Order: sequence, then C-alpha cells, then structure tokens
Amino acid sequence: MSGPRNDAEVAPWIASLGLPYLVDLHLHFLPDRMQQKVWSFFDEQARGHYGTAWPIQYRVSEEDRLAVLRELNVGVFAPLVYPHKAGMGAWLTEWVLDFAARTPGAVPTATIFAEPDVTSYLGAALAAGARCVKAHVQVGGWDPRDPLLDEAWGMIADAGVPVVIHCGHGPARGAHTGLDVFEEVLRRHPTLTAVLAHAGMPEIGVALDLAERYPRVHLDTTMVGVAFTAGMSPLPPDWLDRLASLPDRIVLGTDFPSIPYPYAEQLAAIAGWAEADDRLGEPFLRGVLHDNPSRLLRLDTSA
Ligand SMILES: [Zn+2]
Repeated sequence: MSGPRNDAEVAPWIASLGLPYLVDLHLHFLPDRMQQKVWSFFDEQARGHYGTAWPIQYRVSEEDRLAVLRELNVGVFAPLVYPHKAGMGAWLTEWVLDFAARTPGAVPTATIFAEPDVTSYLGAALAAGARCVKAHVQVGGWDPRDPLLDEAWGMIADAGVPVVIHCGHGPARGAHTGLDVFEEVLRRHPTLTAVLAHAGMPEIGVALDLAERYPRVHLDTTMVGVAFTAGMSPLPPDWLDRLASLPDRIVLGTDFPSIPYPYAEQLAAIAGWAEADDRLGEPFLRGVLHDNPSRLLRLDTSA
C-alpha cells in the first residue's frame, strides 16, 4: 500500500487500490495572463511573504498541465478561481464555467467576493450547473461575515454545493482569516457544505473540531502533511485518531499546478497516514481519493 514515489507511479498505484481515477477537489486553472501573474508573485514575493522560496512544479502551458493530470489519472477535478479585488468575480466565474465546458474531467465551478452583484453571478452559475464554489478569504481580504455575503452563503447551502474556503491563517494571515471568524458563518448557515482548504492550516485541530460540530464541514488535504509545510504547520499529535473518527470528511485537494513539489508527494503523505493506522488503511484511501469528493460533487459513479 506504500504511496507513489514519483508521478509515474501514481496511475498504477491508483489502479492497485481498485479506483478508476482520482477526484481532486482543489486545484487551479486561471486565465493565462492571470496565471502568469500568480506565478510571478510566487517567484518574487514568496520568500518575503512566506519565508521560503516557492518553486512552481508545473509551470507549463494549459494544454500540458491537462496532459499531466491525464497521466496522473486525475479523472475529475474542480478547477478553482478566486478574485483578489472587487469587480472580478463575475467574469472569472464566467471564464471558469467556459473552461469546464471545454475541458473533459473539469466540473463547473464559481467563485465569490463580498460585493453587491455576488448573488447575481453566483445565482447564474448555480443555475448553469456549478458544482463547487471557491472562496478565498486571505487573498480576497473580505470578511466572511460581511452582510453582502449572507444571502450567497444561504444560496450555496440550499444548493447543497460544496464551498472550498481558504479561511485559515496559513500560509499568511489576512485581515479576516481565522476559523473562529468563519464559524460565525456556520452558526448562521449550519447546513453549509464547507470544505476547509488546507485543513485550516495552521489550525488543523480547530478545523477538525468544526468538522465534529458541523456534519457538513470537510477538510481538504491540500499541502497537508508534506515536507514543505511540516515546519510551518505540523500535524496535531492526535491526527490519526481524528482521521479515524471522521474518515468520510477528508477529501483530496492538491493546489496543482502551483505547488513546490511533485503531485505524488501529496498522495504519498496521505498514503502514509493510511498505512500508519489500522483503522484507516485502503478504505480510508478510497474514501479520500475518490468516494468522498465524488459524493460532494454528486458524480454518478455507478457507471
Ligand atoms: Zn488553492
């Protein structure tokens, strides 16, 4: 059951688990000019912002990134977009809906920002079949409790669509980051299907507490447990016990392509947890890598 040692080993490893493909609930595709800017940001500012260099692993064309995902047998994925300022949410959502329509394996997604027209473009996206929403509290700089967003949270909850929300303090604090802040939204909208991006890093234990209190709160694995984040966001000492009590609430996420290590490393970290505890094992892996994200995205896996 040992995890893949490199990207070439990923597809055979998935097959050995009896899975048809991976379902990645947290990766990114952006309009090309925006993608280049994000990569430049990591090049120029990661050291100042995060205290470490951030060499992008998959800095290739969109076509080549899609080819990498095919080689890795990432059969279904949620391409996530997020605005860093007002006025971008509508066109970014339109862009990603169009991207999903022309890209096999990509599910339609939407994004939100605390701005007056958010319910209008979110409503249109949900009506058009968006199956996942991205919310980035740190990059956006908005307050999840902003009254402009209250109706949007309600719409997402009513639609039963998962919102992948980056609301933790890692890798850098934002004006309104913090799981305590986001919990105020959960109190108002307790049926919200929220996926805490990066397992709420660095407050992973608090994220698990929220998953225990709110049955529709999930954690994604993005950058969790890999060597790159071990220093800034170590796993809690009771990590394996907590996973064993919430195995259906953990979903695969990776942040492909803007990660500073190979995709296989994330899978190896997850495999390491499964292997370290008899309560986890292969059933846990099948849940995290395929069944749990499929359930959230409402994929028909009967075929
Ligand atoms: Zn991300």
